[in-house]
Amino acid sequence: VSSLKGVVEAQCPNGCKPFEAQVWSLVRLDHNPELREQLMAGELNLLSCRTCRRHFYFDHTVVVHDPRIELLAFVFPAYYKDEAKKWSEKMRQDYEILERRGGEAIDYPPVMFFGLEELRVQLEKEDDVQDEVEIARHLSKSLKLELYAVKPSVAREREIPSVLPCASNGGDMRSRLLAGLEQLLHENAYLRHYKDCLGQLQSAKDKAVPPPAKE
Ligand SMILES: [Zn+2]
Repeated sequence: VSSLKGVVEAQCPNGCKPFEAQVWSLVRLDHNPELREQLMAGELNLLSCRTCRRHFYFDHTVVVHDPRIELLAFVFPAYYKDEAKKWSEKMRQDYEILERRGGEAIDYPPVMFFGLEELRVQLEKEDDVQDEVEIARHLSKSLKLELYAVKPSVAREREIPSVLPCASNGGDMRSRLLAGLEQLLHENAYLRHYKDCLGQLQSAKDKAVPPPAKE
């Protein structure tokens, strides 16, 4: 399934004559990188009134999917937020339908947003983490550290980078990750998300490491 667009009758907030417009209901960021750009620029599903030229968002539910980063976002209109519980139930049902329809295996939970702006903020945050990942990749090479890829949906949930440095030897994976993170932060103490990750790993009661990404 690629991205999907539908024809709707749009009503300008100024009360002008309704007009037909095309809006996205399913956005595949992996197939349509240009839609990610539109989303980040606040232009996705932004309409311009045919009569008064006012710009406004067409408020409806959009599913934004990117299997590469295990993102399945249900973006409800912002004003649905008052009934978050009801919509979370609806999301769960739709997710089950998606799962049953098969095609692609989805082994990560859907995430709920209210308004495309909320999703934009989240993706911006992930871009910031990604900047740290690029620095860490670079430093890991000179520090002769290996890289450990975390399951992306888990990295998102825990707000940690999806690529972690790990010492090439020194016991179990947890010890190797702890050593890798300590070496990395010794080189660059400003990698905030790696610092958080080290803290999480040190204080994890079950001594578990984040699950690895699929090969
Ligand atoms: Zn208008």
